[in-house]
Amino acid sequence: MILFRSVGRRHLNGYKELSKHSEIINLGSKSGSKVYFPTIAPNNTAIKILVQPGDKVKVGQKIAERTDFYVPIYSPVSGTVLEQENVFSANVNRPIKHIAIENDGLDTQADPLKTVTLDNSIEEIINAIKEAGLVGLGGAGFPTYVKYNNPKGIHTLLVNGVECEPFLTTDFVAMQNEVDNLLTGCELLMKASGASKTIIAIKVHKDEVKNAINAKLNDYPNISLKEVPDVYPMGWERTLIKEIFHKDYDRLPGEIGVVINNGQTVISLGKVLTTGHPICERLITVSGDAISNPTNVICKIGTMANELIDACGGLAFEDVNLIPGGPMCGRAVNSDKFPITMQMGSLTILKVKTYKEEPCLRCGSCTHHCPAGLQPVEIRRALKAKDYDRLIKLNVMSCVECGMCSYSCPSRIELTEAMKNAKTVTKFKMSQMKK
Ligand code: SF4
Ligand code: SF4
Repeated sequence: MILFRSVGRRHLNGYKELSKHSEIINLGSKSGSKVYFPTIAPNNTAIKILVQPGDKVKVGQKIAERTDFYVPIYSPVSGTVLEQENVFSANVNRPIKHIAIENDGLDTQADPLKTVTLDNSIEEIINAIKEAGLVGLGGAGFPTYVKYNNPKGIHTLLVNGVECEPFLTTDFVAMQNEVDNLLTGCELLMKASGASKTIIAIKVHKDEVKNAINAKLNDYPNISLKEVPDVYPMGWERTLIKEIFHKDYDRLPGEIGVVINNGQTVISLGKVLTTGHPICERLITVSGDAISNPTNVICKIGTMANELIDACGGLAFEDVNLIPGGPMCGRAVNSDKFPITMQMGSLTILKVKTYKEEPCLRCGSCTHHCPAGLQPVEIRRALKAKDYDRLIKLNVMSCVECGMCSYSCPSRIELTEAMKNAKTVTKFKMSQMKK
């Protein structure tokens, strides 16, 4: 089944200038007097906890593992494990149990992981990727190494540095400042996947990134840069692959010989695989029209979001929408006391604007703009009617929650929220049908 059918692209105002040139705030080892880790993975599976309250831990020490895929979770701080706490999770939008670690601020390091170079075997490199504990830093949180298990017929590694969500500038900053790690990561991932070349995709008008990368490409004949149009959702992998390779695929890009990773994921792998130090910090864009000083912040993973907001001068207004992620894909939450996770790239803070929802005009704009070729208006109708068979027929699970349907609706109907709810109920019904 081919999903990419409709036009599904639109230029958006990116508001990138709010944060892209601001001085980066590094909270360093001061960040997170306590850090928190959810006991449930992003896909709602349990996490096996390997430490007990009272244990002393070091930076880079394994404290937990996911139970669906092998993904080790490392402590980003040195300190003492505390009793588990119920803390709000932005991922599941409710309080859940978290591992809590009191940060002693000393940054005492655990023994590093095994490092690899291009002289290592493919198996050794893939094993090192697995032990690095990385999940995709572009938002989905999918374990990175899974893409490199038994890759077959891969010709190209595609690095996604498009960052098409408004306000977000972490890829812009990281890809400009960490070119060596980016290119080292590309070389190791090419070897792991069997790809003979890498294409690094960035949006047009990112001249600083383009110049920083181009300055080093002479030493990397198999790596090239490709500029793509400034439209949303160009960063969605189906849209990007269609743009670059002019091809569709059914389930996975590997079907057409492509493996794709987010730019910051590749940078992080370049770092972890050559230093042996797991990723303990995250670069986060804190931006929007309701934060006093929009910028990028480096903090320990597990730091509470309100610490980042305070570091950026606090809220500029009393009534705000706080969105973990960007405004198109993200969902506003009611608390600023939630921990930053590895896959969280931004906090978008916007003035509250209320819109009056008007009746549907049957204009078809939502369908026309859906990059997954869905009919959002029909899905919303089926959800209201509790017609679960129709939701399955309408292929609701293919929705990537990109926000284009809500954005393009002249009647201001909250279609994306309806899509998310429809996916939740359909997933539940489908799991019941399997029993
Ligand atoms: S949120 Fe889902 S239904 Fe709406 S445009 Fe995006 S993919 Fe299509
Ligand atoms: S874009 Fe809005 S008004 Fe137009 S068909 Fe879709 S839901 Fe109805």
